[in-house]
Amino acid sequence: MNPKDIADQQFDLAADHLDLDPSIRRFLKSPKNVIKVSLPVRMDDGSVQVFKGIRAQYNDALGPFKGGIRYHPAVTEDEVTALAAWMTWKCAVVDVPYGGGKGGVVCDTKELSIGEKERLTRRYTSAIAPHIGPSKDIPGPDMYTDAQTMAWIMDTYSQIKGERSLGVVTGKPVEVGGSHARSEATGRGVLVVAHEAFLAQGMDTEDVTIAIQGFGNVGSNVARLAEEIFQSARVVAISDVTGGVYNEDGLDHEELSAYVAENGGVAGFPEAKAVTNDELLTLDVDLLIPAAVESVITEENADEVQASIIVEAANGPTSPKADEILHEKGIPVIPDILANAGGVTVSYFEWVQGLYAFQWDEGEVRYMLERRMKRAFHAVHDIAEEEELPYRTAAYVLAVDRVSKAVDLLGIWP
Ligand code: GLU
Repeated sequence: MNPKDIADQQFDLAADHLDLDPSIRRFLKSPKNVIKVSLPVRMDDGSVQVFKGIRAQYNDALGPFKGGIRYHPAVTEDEVTALAAWMTWKCAVVDVPYGGGKGGVVCDTKELSIGEKERLTRRYTSAIAPHIGPSKDIPGPDMYTDAQTMAWIMDTYSQIKGERSLGVVTGKPVEVGGSHARSEATGRGVLVVAHEAFLAQGMDTEDVTIAIQGFGNVGSNVARLAEEIFQSARVVAISDVTGGVYNEDGLDHEELSAYVAENGGVAGFPEAKAVTNDELLTLDVDLLIPAAVESVITEENADEVQASIIVEAANGPTSPKADEILHEKGIPVIPDILANAGGVTVSYFEWVQGLYAFQWDEGEVRYMLERRMKRAFHAVHDIAEEEELPYRTAAYVLAVDRVSKAVDLLGIWP
């Protein structure tokens, strides 16, 4: 199913519930701008390749557009637009003063040298430079982009402007204006929200078993921090593009990370059974965390899910049909726009620090992140309880209400 159609369906459920005015509903279903650029890049062998880049700017009623940049061969305009819509609702749920945006470049980073990736990033930045800026649109990291990529973006934009612009991008390395605790922020936020959800559902928070799909920035930080947030938690299964591994006694994070660094993926990790990515999703665990790509829990497999609760670290991992099935089965789904909002929350702290040339320490950032994630969880939980809604629709109700009020206050110009 097309990701934009999924985003529209999720939005409609909340809009119906809010009995949203049809004019505002039409307004909120369209992106403000979708910028498409062609990026000629000199490759190491001397040839020139032309890559396709996109920046979708969905809605800026609450503040400048904000959202990551994704490098992936499967990037499409509809996917980037859906991701920009999800950023709009995500920023509203955690109450950071941003609209929603997202960027994408169609490329396979595994086939690019570091020099090629740098030249591609700089060319993409120069192509979208007229459309971004600290009070316009602030990119950040997403799949296959990292702190180094963000440093190149800041440098290129600053060179073009002739002045250092700390506020144009977030997720930068700490040495050049990044925030402490930004790289772990999405993973930490996922666990903080998961822990609150366990408490709110009256579930036991000890000896929790966890399966994580994905071992990128988010999945690996969730695995690393699981025992800090949930005492005596066991991460029993982890997968990535190479396959999955399962050990009912728990997987050792440090050993697994060292193995992945050497072998390029989790597949073949000793002292663990092999599982496929599909099998991982249906394991009998307490907590299932999809932390990879979109549309992995669908009507095909939702009925087989055995986890007690799903917390979405990835964007868009559950289809609307799967949502219905899981709701009927009584498995709560803590939605992406709440669960993985820790990344953009610390991005917001980083942006504020950049504007003031200031730096909070790691403890301060973690404290502020936890406080904001808990507050957002309880705001959503209260709506879910009062209105008898699944968590996803409750989160949308909160977000759509906030954004539509801002649209109404600003008015339609002229
Ligand atoms: N990629 C992150 C997300 O999907 C947001 C990046 C940012 O901080 O702008 O939430």
